[in-house]
Amino acid sequence: MSRKKIIAGNWKMNMTPSEAVKLVETLKPLVANDDVDVVFCVPAIDILPVVEAAKGSNIQVGAENMYFEEKGAFTGEISPNMLTDAGVKYVVLGHSERREYFAETSETVNKKMLKAFEHGITPIMCCGETLDQREQGVTMDFIRQQVKVGFQNVTADQAKTAVIAYEPIWAIGTGKTATTEQAQEVCAGIRACIAEIYDEATAAAIRIQYGGSVNAKTAPELFAQADIDGGLVGGASLKPEFGDIVNYNK
Ligand code: PGA
Repeated sequence: MSRKKIIAGNWKMNMTPSEAVKLVETLKPLVANDDVDVVFCVPAIDILPVVEAAKGSNIQVGAENMYFEEKGAFTGEISPNMLTDAGVKYVVLGHSERREYFAETSETVNKKMLKAFEHGITPIMCCGETLDQREQGVTMDFIRQQVKVGFQNVTADQAKTAVIAYEPIWAIGTGKTATTEQAQEVCAGIRACIAEIYDEATAAAIRIQYGGSVNAKTAPELFAQADIDGGLVGGASLKPEFGDIVNYNK
């Protein structure tokens, strides 16, 4: 089964609205590649200007988080309707930084997953182990648990459209990319986990990204792996280098 690659930038808490527009103008011609889905996941305040600036290009816009209620007294939160109305197609859920600094659990991630599907937003659900967990040999147990809870009550048809980002925490923003073998091994394990929860067809359809210090040099080999369907890119998504990552196959 051939899955279309999906390469997403995760801007994190970078870029003011005016900086965001400039960055999109710079990257627009560089990220043209019809072979891949290109997504810019940007801070909430940048969504509207980025959607506007990206018009006429292949760039799709994603959010970095979302709340699981429809509306009401949830000061500071952003609802799924607000995102779809603004033109958002994807949402990053359960990034390790949100789990670590904002106490997100797999249970809250699951509630957000269900809401995203309900609103036709594609979730990019992050999972990944700490260095400690890797050294203790519990990487796959931990990630299987994150995936199982994250996908509770998600139907097979919904799961087929989802994206999972495998991001080893020790590789995020550290310049330490997982080796190609490590990344492929875990992505294959995640796909096997999806096959267990659902079936082979769902496992074959779901897209699994690798994230963690991806750069233009490491992207081609990573994205050539059987179970790696693209990347979630932090630091390098803020630079012209992102164009080379998106065009890893040229
Ligand atoms: P990085 O971030 O590419 O800067 O390591 C990846 C991520 O956290 O999504």
